[in-house]
Amino acid sequence: MRERGGLTVVDLKHYAYCPRIVYFTHVLHLQEKETEAMSYGRELQEEVLLTPLIRLVKARRVEKDVELRSRTLPLIGKLDYLVTTKLGELIPVEVKWAEPTPKGKAKPDHRAQLAAYALMLDENRDTSVKRGGIYYRRASRLVIVPIQIEDKENVRRIVKTIMEMIEEEDYQPLRQKQKQCLNCGFSIFCRPV
Ligand code: SF4
Repeated sequence: MRERGGLTVVDLKHYAYCPRIVYFTHVLHLQEKETEAMSYGRELQEEVLLTPLIRLVKARRVEKDVELRSRTLPLIGKLDYLVTTKLGELIPVEVKWAEPTPKGKAKPDHRAQLAAYALMLDENRDTSVKRGGIYYRRASRLVIVPIQIEDKENVRRIVKTIMEMIEEEDYQPLRQKQKQCLNCGFSIFCRPV
């Protein structure tokens, strides 16, 4: 879903996970090798996963695969689910084949992704998104993430930084721990085991 000259929310997630991925995708135009976890996660993406959230917030509507485009940034994305509560609150939800952090929190790259969707929903749906959800399929756990104005402003900073990195063809130094590279779809180009 990437557009020429623009970014997707997945780019922001990649940047938050490892900035080097941006170089591979936007400067070298390499495709991420699909890992087992990625394909398995896609197969398991079912609305039934949202049942606890739907009950919790008394949802009146659930939209799936919601395509969004920023009005102020070169950014697009496709949100897994958008839940509308009875009170009209919009809650973006992503499903991941992964686990939360050891403390049961959402991972930083997933939080960045949610903040980007929140910003685009604010711009397009005349709202102010205050929270989102990540459903961690492997742990069968829904983590609710507060989303604040600073998180949305951070999205603007990240987009600016990524655009500059691409412009300058900036190959970031290796700073990831080996463990983090094991589940990376770019490891064959970067850090073959
Ligand atoms: S293999 Fe490691 S260093 Fe290389 S892009 Fe992936 S996460 Fe980053």
